[in-house]
Amino acid sequence: MKLFTDGDADLSLIRGRRVAVIGYGNQGRAQALNLRDSGAPPIVALREGAPSRARAEADGFEVATPEDAAARCDVAAVLTPDDGQAEIWETALKPNLPQGAALVFAHGLSIRFGLISPRPDLDIVLVAPKGPGSALRSEYEAGRGLVTLFAVHQDATGAAEALALSYAAALGSGRAGILPTSFAEECEADLFNEQAVLWGAIPELIHAGYETLVDAGFSPEVAYFECLTEVKLIADLIYARGIAGMREAISNTAEFGALQGGRRIVTPETRAEMRHILAEVRNGSFVAELMADASAGYPKLRASRREASSHPIEEVGRKLREIRPN
Ligand code: NAP
Ligand code: MG
Repeated sequence: MKLFTDGDADLSLIRGRRVAVIGYGNQGRAQALNLRDSGAPPIVALREGAPSRARAEADGFEVATPEDAAARCDVAAVLTPDDGQAEIWETALKPNLPQGAALVFAHGLSIRFGLISPRPDLDIVLVAPKGPGSALRSEYEAGRGLVTLFAVHQDATGAAEALALSYAAALGSGRAGILPTSFAEECEADLFNEQAVLWGAIPELIHAGYETLVDAGFSPEVAYFECLTEVKLIADLIYARGIAGMREAISNTAEFGALQGGRRIVTPETRAEMRHILAEVRNGSFVAELMADASAGYPKLRASRREASSHPIEEVGRKLREIRPN
């Protein structure tokens, strides 16, 4: 598979277009700042009375409504929460985007699950940074970049791929790698990984390990360092060296323990459950549940936030961060 880099991208394409960034949250702010520093300053589009308006203005951006920005741009990056994108499309983008404009998504969900059926005259591309907005920005500022996936769903002008590469390079990702994919692959892999590995499994594993130690009478602080703090150290090692390389950096004792423990925790049943999660992602049932919770005002999501923040591990973490020297 070809990994595209700055040499494959023509920055002048995005610099020659009028870009609107819709939303000024995690991705919106980072992308707007990187685009501006790359010579493609965007208009920021926000609703009337948006709480994030003050921040966008303080950062020096012109702020317009989504309707107004859509009418004035020829590249619109949709950087608002996935569950509200269909409404923005219907009310602001579909009626106002000029013929032949491009829509840029940071995640394939709205297109993959048919929540948006785009006008046929538009270029529809995906530029999906593989990490949070804060990292997209800090890597850019450090002269590096964050790996980005890219895809073309609809190429109305014949220039969609070149535009996507140009946009990705303006985010700084040409310094790290721009990897081709499809909307479906990016979306399904991302939704799967969020549940099966990253935001689902790892925190649950940390909670379970912490509770096992504390229930057995270990001090919460020791349990915290063992089961939570060290996750960063192993993540850094794996990132830098791969899993086999990480093993070389740990003691033989730790490595022997890994051999004993890993497969008792991630069992054939765990793998079977991962396949169920993937099936629920692909058949749309996960997205249907997400949209149902979103339209009810997120009762399930809010309950799970309350539950997570009331876990005793948070109090230990707060105390340890207070006394930590840096
Ligand atoms: P987010 O931070 O939750 O977005 C919040 C921003 O969207 C706020 O500025 C909010 O404005 C604005 N907004 C919400 N509804 C709006 C509407 N109807 N019209 C205009 N603005 C509206 O979102 P995010 O986490 O960056 O995610 C954005 C997209 O990037 C999603 O597709 C997501 O899957 C993808 N993505 C995110 C990350 C990440 O770093 N989180 C990483 C990769 C991809 P107000 O001030 O009005 O609230
Ligand atoms: Mg995601």
